[in-house]
Amino acid sequence: MELKEGLLVAGNVLVAAILILYFINPGGELEFTSKEVNNNFTLGNNSVKMQFYDNLRFPSNSISYRIDNDCSLKKKADMIRAFEIIENKTTLEFYSINEGEEITVTCENTNRMEDGLFIAGEGGPTNITEGDRFKVILHGDILLIKDSECENPNVAIHELLHVLGFDHSENKNNIMYPITKCKQVIGDEIPARIEELYSVPSYPDLKFEKAVAEINGRILNLNLSIRNDGLQKSEKAKILIYTDDKVLKEIELKELEIGHGVSVQLTNLWLTKIKIEKLKVVIESNFQEISLDNNEILLSRG
Ligand SMILES: [Zn+2]
Repeated sequence: MELKEGLLVAGNVLVAAILILYFINPGGELEFTSKEVNNNFTLGNNSVKMQFYDNLRFPSNSISYRIDNDCSLKKKADMIRAFEIIENKTTLEFYSINEGEEITVTCENTNRMEDGLFIAGEGGPTNITEGDRFKVILHGDILLIKDSECENPNVAIHELLHVLGFDHSENKNNIMYPITKCKQVIGDEIPARIEELYSVPSYPDLKFEKAVAEINGRILNLNLSIRNDGLQKSEKAKILIYTDDKVLKEIELKELEIGHGVSVQLTNLWLTKIKIEKLKVVIESNFQEISLDNNEILLSRG
């Protein structure tokens, strides 16, 4: 009997960076009022994608950040207020740490222009791991350049929403419009989408990606690959191989980071009987997973 294990990691990192520029119009703003203002991101069009990719989220609703010491007191205060505003509208929580943060906030004091517009800031996810269920944001960056002159810290809120995976909106009244105006608001759709995304608990999710069996007489060869498609690192678990409901073999499964997988090759397993009706492979974990439906695979004789 031979057991080979290999780590499947490649192909997980979806992007290195999505940093999107945000502008301030130096010519001031033309305000006009209308009784019924549509503030929403999509302007009511259901086919408009709100995020850079579908189902982008951080591993948990508790997200760490660090604001660089070079940021002015005004920019620091704006950023902290932006975190509070999003916290008040959603279940997300932001906390400050000194290193290993998920969101890094840096600042720049020199004015930069592009196409006649001042650049207000830049932001977005910078490390995303691709899973089947979620594209998990492991890190995001915010760069605050020009101070927001609005009552609300609109530049900081806009960049924070980019880091949370939201793209630009075509609605001039929404805060995700590419050019900032003080009247822009978050609207209802963004908090609703955040609530929906973070309603899935922050658990690991071990699943089979592949299971191929080959039987020659009384010899069984198995080729398995298992991945953590969840939102947290998985603890040690077991793989059990059953033949007709009897355990034929038990294999230890090591801890797996989000998006990481392992491939297991078992060769020359000796079958106790020649006629096997059912071959079943099961992932057994003693921790909570997002789904247990993907922990079992039934292989039929083909
Ligand atoms: Zn932007």
